[in-house]
Amino acid sequence: MVFVLKPGVPQQKIERFIQKIESWGFQTFLSTGTEHTVICLIGNTATIDLDSVVQMNDIIEYGKRVTEPYKAVNRTVHPEDTMVNAGNVPIGNGMFQVISGPCSVESEEQIIEVAKSVKASGATMLRGGAFKPRTSPYAFMGLGKEGLQLLLAAKRETGLPIVTEVMNQTQLPLFEDIDVLQVGARNMQNFDLLREVGRYNKPVLLKRGLANTLEELLMSAEYIMSEGNSQVILCERGIRTFETSTRNTLDLSAVPLLKQKTHLPVIVDPSHAAGIRVLVAPLARAAVAVGADGLMIETHNDPAQARSDGAQSLNLAQFEVLMEDLKRRIEFEGKHIGTA
Ligand code: PEP
Ligand code: MN
Repeated sequence: MVFVLKPGVPQQKIERFIQKIESWGFQTFLSTGTEHTVICLIGNTATIDLDSVVQMNDIIEYGKRVTEPYKAVNRTVHPEDTMVNAGNVPIGNGMFQVISGPCSVESEEQIIEVAKSVKASGATMLRGGAFKPRTSPYAFMGLGKEGLQLLLAAKRETGLPIVTEVMNQTQLPLFEDIDVLQVGARNMQNFDLLREVGRYNKPVLLKRGLANTLEELLMSAEYIMSEGNSQVILCERGIRTFETSTRNTLDLSAVPLLKQKTHLPVIVDPSHAAGIRVLVAPLARAAVAVGADGLMIETHNDPAQARSDGAQSLNLAQFEVLMEDLKRRIEFEGKHIGTA
């Protein structure tokens, strides 16, 4: 971390600032140039809140991190790609997976029909919301506990590992047989939940918040990893911008950037990004092309009747067509889909 000082700061003030930093346990290196004086901090600066140091010391022009504040997720400390095992399905490090299923689990017939069909089309994990974070308190909230049981019934039927959202830590005991714990966009900075899923020995699918930077996403992953759980999958699902013609704006550059910064697998959810069915296939193809390790795609046996997110859900035939196309593209990228 470096602090560039304002021009003309008296020596006495500089010394007082250096003493303060050193009292926090850091060594300092002072560089006095012709125009600027720069103070470099040596040591693990992850615990320092850069912005508040800058705000509270009027001698500082600006501060900058020269090493990232995240450690465990950082590719520099772990150069190889991490492979996360969701049940018997590996994702990352050359393995590409497609997670598909309805926004919400609605009935046994629905989830079993969707599970069988998406599996036959090539999906390798089943998604479905049992606990749903909804903008309106009057909207369908999911089937809760019963929804989890229906997902497990679909798993028994198809063998597909289950990905489903946990909205708060009190629900976690219900998720014992669930394969992947999804932390939704709205919970990306629910730090208590992040710590708690970090104490579980289960993969976590961490979705990017609607208005969060990539660094914030990585810091949230760091929360999970710092508790001992290294099985984290990151998911770009669109961010909020000024554009209103799509539900969100899919930030495709997040994929190659994240893959530079971290060893964790990165997947894309084009459904929640677009909010519009016809955009799902082109965005899914783009995600494969920019180096994603997987996709999460909402599907429904009858999208027009879906209790949530019908407008962005593919029907089962549309998903089948898309998968045929994606399989070739995944192979072209040198990746494999499935268990081997
Ligand atoms: C979901 O995947 O069902 C969901 C609610 O997504 P997000 O958290 O990305 O909005
Ligand atoms: Mn949804």
